[in-house]
Amino acid sequence: MESGEKALALLPLLQPDLILLDVMMPGIDGFTLCRQVKTTAEWQSVPIIMVTALASKETLAQCLELGADDFVSKPVNRLELMARVRSMLRIRQQYQQLNSFNAQIEAKVVQRTAELQDLIYHDSLTRLPSRTNLLERIGHLLDDQRTDFALAYLDCDQFKLVNGAFGYTVGNQLLQAIATRLQRHLRPTDILARVGEDEFCFLLTPIPPDFALEAWVEAVLQSFHQPFQTSHCEIFITACLGLALGNAATLTPDPEALLQAADTAMYRAKRQGKGCYQRFDPQLYEATLRRLTLENDLQRALDQGELVVYYQPIVSLSTHQTTGFEALVRWHHPDRGIVPPGEFIPCLEETGLVVRAGLIVLRQACTQLQQWHRQGWTDLTVSVNLSVRQFASPTLLADIDQVLAETGLNPASLKLEVTESAIMENAESVITLLHALRDRQIQISIDDFGTGYSSLGYLHRFPIDGLKIDRSFVQDMRPAQRNYQVVETIITLSNQLGLAVVAEGIETHDQLQALQDLGCELGQGFFFAKPAPAEAITATLLNQPLGSSPRPALRAQR
Ligand code: C2E
Ligand code: MG
Ligand code: MG
Repeated sequence: MESGEKALALLPLLQPDLILLDVMMPGIDGFTLCRQVKTTAEWQSVPIIMVTALASKETLAQCLELGADDFVSKPVNRLELMARVRSMLRIRQQYQQLNSFNAQIEAKVVQRTAELQDLIYHDSLTRLPSRTNLLERIGHLLDDQRTDFALAYLDCDQFKLVNGAFGYTVGNQLLQAIATRLQRHLRPTDILARVGEDEFCFLLTPIPPDFALEAWVEAVLQSFHQPFQTSHCEIFITACLGLALGNAATLTPDPEALLQAADTAMYRAKRQGKGCYQRFDPQLYEATLRRLTLENDLQRALDQGELVVYYQPIVSLSTHQTTGFEALVRWHHPDRGIVPPGEFIPCLEETGLVVRAGLIVLRQACTQLQQWHRQGWTDLTVSVNLSVRQFASPTLLADIDQVLAETGLNPASLKLEVTESAIMENAESVITLLHALRDRQIQISIDDFGTGYSSLGYLHRFPIDGLKIDRSFVQDMRPAQRNYQVVETIITLSNQLGLAVVAEGIETHDQLQALQDLGCELGQGFFFAKPAPAEAITATLLNQPLGSSPRPALRAQR
C-alpha cells in the first residue's frame, strides 16, 4: 500500500488478519495509522507488526504504546518476518476462539437467566403469573399506597378426587381449562395468578367506588356451573373463594400476610360448603396472626426446653396419703411467664407438635419419679396425660419403651391418662395398644370421665385400670342433686368393674366428705395441693419421715 490513507480505506474490503505497517509513509505515518486502527472497535483485534528502520528505543516504545503487537527491523529478514507473522496469526486465532467461546457462554447465561426468570414468574402449566410474581405486584401496590385493590383467592373443591380418579394428565387439563375460564373475568389491569396446585388468586385493581365486587365474585363462582372439557370427559367442579381488600389503610403492609388473609377467608368459605365465598374480617386476621406467633413460639419452646412439668398429688381419700402425682405441663414463656396447658395444648395438638411435647413431658416425669424412688419414696406413681393425637401416634410404644429404658423406671409406676375420645376415635387399633401397654404393666385411666361418651357400657371391652371423674361433677355435689347421683353411679359401677376411681378438682372439705361417703378411693384437688414444680414437691416430701408408711397427704400452701 503506498499510503496510510489508502490502507485505511481498504480495511473493510480486505478484512486483514494481520497488518504489516511501515512507520515512514507518505501522508499519515505509521504511528497515526496504528492509533486509528487500534481505537476502532472493529479493527482493534487485528494484530499490527511495525516494520521500522528507526531502531531507536523511543520509536519502539512509541509503537508498542499505540497498540502495536510486535515489530521487525529493517532490513527485513524474510525468515524472521515469517516466524513473527505465523506466531502472531496463531495468537490471533486463539484469541478469536476464546472470544467466540465467551460470547457463547454469555448468550447461554442470558438465555438461562431469562428461563429462570420465567420459571419464577410464571406457572409452567397454565402460563399464568406465579405466586412470587403476584406477591411482587401486591408489594408494588402497597408501596404505592394510592390504589385500592382486592385479592380473590380461589380454591377448587375436592380437586384431589379428580387427580385420583382420572390421573394427573386429566387433572392438568382441568387446571388449564379452569385458568382459561377464569381469565374471562379479568379487566385489562387485573391479574390472575396460579398460587398453588388447584389455587388461583385474582389481583383486582383499581377498585372504583362503583365496582360491584360481590356481583363479580358471584359471576366467577357461577362460571363453574358449566362443565370443563378435558380430552377424556367433561368434568364438573366447584370452587370456594376468599376476598381480602387492600389499600393505604391496610392492616398490614406485608404482601405475604395479605395473601394469607385472602387464603384464610377462603378456608372459612370452605367450611360453609362447596361453591361459597367469604370476605376476610380483620378479627380473623388478628386471630390468624396470634395463632402463627403461637406456633412459632411453641416450636422454639420445644427446642429451648421451655416446657416444665408440675406435679399435683393424688391422695388416698381414706388415709390422706399421697399415692402419686399427675404430671401437668407448664410453659415457662420468656415474656409471658408460666402459661397453663389450656392455652397451648390445642395448638400443639393441631400442629402435631404434641407428639414431641408429650415425649418431653414423659421423659421429665419418668426421670423425676425415678429420682424420688431412689430417694426412698418407692411406691409413688406418676400419671402422664396423652392427647388424642399422641395416643394415635405410631411411635407411642417405642417412645415409651425408650424412656423407660433410659430412666430405668419400673413400668408399673407409670399411669397414662387418656380421654374417652382418644379411645373412641382410635377404637380399632386401641385394643392392641392397650394390651401392649398392659403387658408392660403400665396402667391406663380414662380422664375427664363423664364429659364425653360417658358410656360405662363400653368400658369393660377395653383393658383399662381406672377412671377420673371430671371436676365439673365434683364441684357442685350435694346429696339428691344430679351431680351427686352421677358420681355415685360412676363409683358404684367402677367398683363392680374393678376400676380405680380418682375424683378430680376437690376444693372443699364438703366435697371430700361427700366423696368419702360414696366410697371414692382416690382424689386430687386444690384442697390437698395445687400442681407444683418438682423442687417444691421434693421439699415437701423431705419434710415427711422417710419410709414412714402410711404417709400423710402433701399439703401445699393454697
Ligand atoms: P386434666 O388432665 O384433667 O388435669 C387436671 C386439671 O385440673 C389441671 O389443669 C389441674 O391444675 C386442674 N385442677 C386440679 N385440681 C383442681 C381444683 O381443685 N380446682 C380446679 N379449678 N382445677 C384443678 P391444668 O394443669 O391447667 O391442665 C389442664 C388440662 O391440660 C389437663 O386436664 C390435661 O387435659 C391437659 N394437660 C396438662 N398437661 C398435659 C400434658 O402433659 N399432655 C397433654 N396431652 N395434656 C396435658
Ligand atoms: Mg389428666
Ligand atoms: Mg381431667
